[in-house]
Amino acid sequence: MGGESNRIMPISKSYPTTAAGPVGKQIHHIYADRLRQFTDGGQYYEQGLLPKLTEARAHGSDWVKLSVYSPPNLSRPTFKDATSHKFKSTHVGEFFGPSWSTHWFKVQLTIPKDMLEKEHLEFVWDANNEGLIWTEKGDPVHGLTGGGERTEWILPKTFRDGKEHVFYVEMACNGMFGNAPGGDSIQPPKPDKYFQLHTAEVRAVNLEARALYFDFWEIGDASREFPGDSWEAHSAQQVCNKIMDTFIAGDGSNKAIGECRKIAKEYLGDVDTHKVYDGDQEAIITGIGYCHIDTCWLWPFAETKRKVARSWSNQCDLIDRYPELRFCCSQAQQYKWLEQYYPSTFDRVKKKVKEGTFQPIGGSWVEHDTNLPGGESLIRQFLYGQRYFESRFGQRCKTFWLPDTFGYSTQLPQICRISGMTRFLTQKLSWNNINNFPHTTFNWVALDNSQVVCHMPPAETYTAEANFGDVKRSITQHKSLDQDKTSLLVFGKGDGGGGPTWQHLEKLRRCRGISDKTSLLPRVKLGDSADDFFDRLEKRVENGLDLVTWYGELYFELHRGTYTTQANNKRNNRKAEILLRDIEYLATLATIKKDYSEKSSYKYPKKDLDDMWENVLLCQFHDCLPGSSIEMCYDDSDEIYAKVFKTGEQLLSDALSELGFDDEPKADSSLYALNTMPWSRSEIIRLPSIASLPSYGLAHTSGPGMTQIRPLASPFSAAVASIKEVRPNVFELRNSQLKVEVSNGVITSLYDLWAYRELIPKGKKANQLILYDDKPLYWQAWDVEVYHLASRTELSPSKTTISEDSVHRVSLDIETKISDKSWIKTTISLSATVGNTPSSIELDSEIEWHETMKFLKVEFPVDIVNTEASYETQFGIVRRPTHYNTTWDMAKFEVCCHKWADLSEHTYGVSILNDSKYGFAVAGNVMRLSLLRAPKAPDAHADMGRHRVRYAILPHKGGVGEDTVRTAFNFNNPLKIVGHDSSTAEVERYGTPSLLSALRVIGAPNLVLDSVKRGEDDEDVSRGELPKNKGRSVVLRVYDALGGKSKGFLSWGGLGVKSVWKVNALEDGVEELSAGVTEVEDEGGEKVRGVWVEVRAFEVASFRLGL
Ligand SMILES: [Zn+2]
Repeated sequence: MGGESNRIMPISKSYPTTAAGPVGKQIHHIYADRLRQFTDGGQYYEQGLLPKLTEARAHGSDWVKLSVYSPPNLSRPTFKDATSHKFKSTHVGEFFGPSWSTHWFKVQLTIPKDMLEKEHLEFVWDANNEGLIWTEKGDPVHGLTGGGERTEWILPKTFRDGKEHVFYVEMACNGMFGNAPGGDSIQPPKPDKYFQLHTAEVRAVNLEARALYFDFWEIGDASREFPGDSWEAHSAQQVCNKIMDTFIAGDGSNKAIGECRKIAKEYLGDVDTHKVYDGDQEAIITGIGYCHIDTCWLWPFAETKRKVARSWSNQCDLIDRYPELRFCCSQAQQYKWLEQYYPSTFDRVKKKVKEGTFQPIGGSWVEHDTNLPGGESLIRQFLYGQRYFESRFGQRCKTFWLPDTFGYSTQLPQICRISGMTRFLTQKLSWNNINNFPHTTFNWVALDNSQVVCHMPPAETYTAEANFGDVKRSITQHKSLDQDKTSLLVFGKGDGGGGPTWQHLEKLRRCRGISDKTSLLPRVKLGDSADDFFDRLEKRVENGLDLVTWYGELYFELHRGTYTTQANNKRNNRKAEILLRDIEYLATLATIKKDYSEKSSYKYPKKDLDDMWENVLLCQFHDCLPGSSIEMCYDDSDEIYAKVFKTGEQLLSDALSELGFDDEPKADSSLYALNTMPWSRSEIIRLPSIASLPSYGLAHTSGPGMTQIRPLASPFSAAVASIKEVRPNVFELRNSQLKVEVSNGVITSLYDLWAYRELIPKGKKANQLILYDDKPLYWQAWDVEVYHLASRTELSPSKTTISEDSVHRVSLDIETKISDKSWIKTTISLSATVGNTPSSIELDSEIEWHETMKFLKVEFPVDIVNTEASYETQFGIVRRPTHYNTTWDMAKFEVCCHKWADLSEHTYGVSILNDSKYGFAVAGNVMRLSLLRAPKAPDAHADMGRHRVRYAILPHKGGVGEDTVRTAFNFNNPLKIVGHDSSTAEVERYGTPSLLSALRVIGAPNLVLDSVKRGEDDEDVSRGELPKNKGRSVVLRVYDALGGKSKGFLSWGGLGVKSVWKVNALEDGVEELSAGVTEVEDEGGEKVRGVWVEVRAFEVASFRLGL
């Protein structure tokens, strides 16, 4: 340049010398309010943008001819079955129902001539319920959700030939959230809802007008949601007003729409393709599509299977249209359903998984509850989940994904780590109704010190509508900005399924455009997976980023009623878990005994076990086991559990019979007690009613295994139990350790003769039943609110009678009326002591329950002082406050326990054991076991009817220890009385009898040998889903139950073990221990082989013995 520069600046000739007229300052709120006129459905609708979106429509039988087949009895037939029936003519305007019924529509569609050349044609179907479009050949192609949610299907190009084309719509008579009667979706479903088909037509869409609609929406949001003192907000408002003025000036013509879009571009940039994400400026928000499908909730499992097909077929289609979309989906069970019932959709998904656009995540069988399932169940959620993902897609998941579950057990980080996962995502704690959880991204640390990186998306939802506000909140609600500014934005319709929509993707493109143009909105990017997000985070940690830590459970300060609601379901879960442990243990022994496969055709029942486990894991879904589903779901789960128990009893009987036992002992067979727990037991047990037998027998087993029962015909020692009425309505039950006084039906004294200690404070009443009023703020089945405690009402027992008075066991029956319709009968029993085995007072209650919004608990005031109580959790103990010092302490006014809860001082304590309960509280020195609730939504009949619950009071010397752990296991797993053919009892070593006691841990009573099972991929066990391993192996799970690093001797008696490996929960080898194999003397002085293992405090350690 140069040469033409002029040193004298001329006065601008073009700047007007005089004012053209007055120009006013825009009154901000008026120009802001005006924007609504352009896109709302009010009085200016016809003058606005909305009518321009549709260029033409065709409906009526000339173009969309409809006929229907309505299958009977609320059945859900397959495509083949449905289309084999006769269809009868129908039309728009008809009603279809009732709730939960299915209707198959044959659609004969012809595109009118004048629409053939239109740019974009859609078929629009809306009956305010859900549907699935099938091709004429029977492939599902597109899901529909009525009420305008997702009602359009882009017509294939092949339809533009002027000829008639046929396809089908499978209509499901439920909305996305089931069939609630009105606006309150958690009310029990209405059985007689009918749905009007109000739209079935072909539409030609003006894509430019549609694009302008989204331009205007997002720029409008910027004008409203950017800070009022930012130029970006003002500029957005100016752009929107300019767009409206331009549209009006051009009379809404296509030309005017084009000009409007140009104006929008000033603010958005080019947002018409996925290339908007190509810029290399740093994006701190990773948008990831997700579709939360509750496996059951306000609809039954059968509907979920269809929701999966509807939702995921849409995602496959959307990924094709929006290449930036990455969609992740959890729950192996849902993939398995798709594979079983919708193979062609499964193939579509599989292809997308391979491309990396459809991403399996979570690693678990379902998105399960984590408070209630037992430790082994949590492991099996991953074992079954990860194995499914690996077998079908060749990959395991790295991220545990549980956005919607009601609180997170303290051992999850460890269980994730041993199941191949290093990260965890949730957001549910944003629902806390007392304390605000302080972190977004942090290290979450388990009882054993294992950690995972945890992220809680700051938009505080897993069903984001991908609005401007969601993107903004990803930074304004981010609580870990001191450490890291990145976050995930999890978007897509959910709970009832759905997933991302094209609208979400259009909005996000514009948000990205706005970020690039203004820099005020945090920049979002798509095209990455959740795993990519975590990979980057882990990388930063590797490079020195110090994330804050959170130790222990992520207690959810809401939904505390879910430890108790739907008692029967919870009881079934506990029973099934215990049954499965027994079956796997005995079936394992049956397949490794000496003459296995020589004399018998017995095989490890892998398929049946898999079916049982998959069903139990399914029922642990986060709305099923917690009790927050509708009645239909519990009808289903009752059936599922019935099947589990039926199979289980058969498997148990098969395994026992392979081991030479008869599970229904005959009069002449020798009676044995079989102990499947890995420790010694001495118990008085009730014998089967066979004429020749007395009522009780004594069983003493040293270690696991079997022992002949000694029938107790008469007092066998000085240790006897006794009972007497000492004063009117005051009874004394006594054995050599305990003296219990029951006055007017409640325990007024419990004296430990061994410890010289009274447990019940003077004037207090233990085993006192309490009724509370139970009306939470909203979520009935889910919540019990803190104020229920003020409504405490003591129930008065009406009658106490001695029901058993033998020297071996004494019992009192106590009857208590709750109301005209409800009552409780509790039997308090005390057995004679056996040796130095600590005694417990057993309580067995039968409850008839027909209450409304009441909560029944049983209370134990005890003379113990401690600011913390202990509760059994999966593979360990969680300690929680017994006081209300802070709001964090008070929030835990109702907590979850497993088989026991304990309050102890250094010298003495008491454990309350149970056989099927999970809700508990300790306030000061009052321990409270939660028994039953009576919510009326979403199941109007939750928990009504007959219940049985067993619990026990176990006083003990010293703090909580192995007596509590073992007695609670024993209480849940009574000795099995079996017959045994003595001729086979005399088999040489490592035939049955010694085999039964072979597997145990010696020398560390805090170590529990929990599961014993065969290796998943052993050649004689494997079902072939993953490569087989040569030979036989046994997998043993050992954990420290009390919190102390220990060395124990893992013994296999005299079994021929060739190799020993420490393995992870997925049974991958971690460390070979074979070199350490040695021999020690057991407690009985017998030489046993095994290996010393060291287990960290609260570690869950798995070992594989190669045979
Ligand atoms: Zn959910």
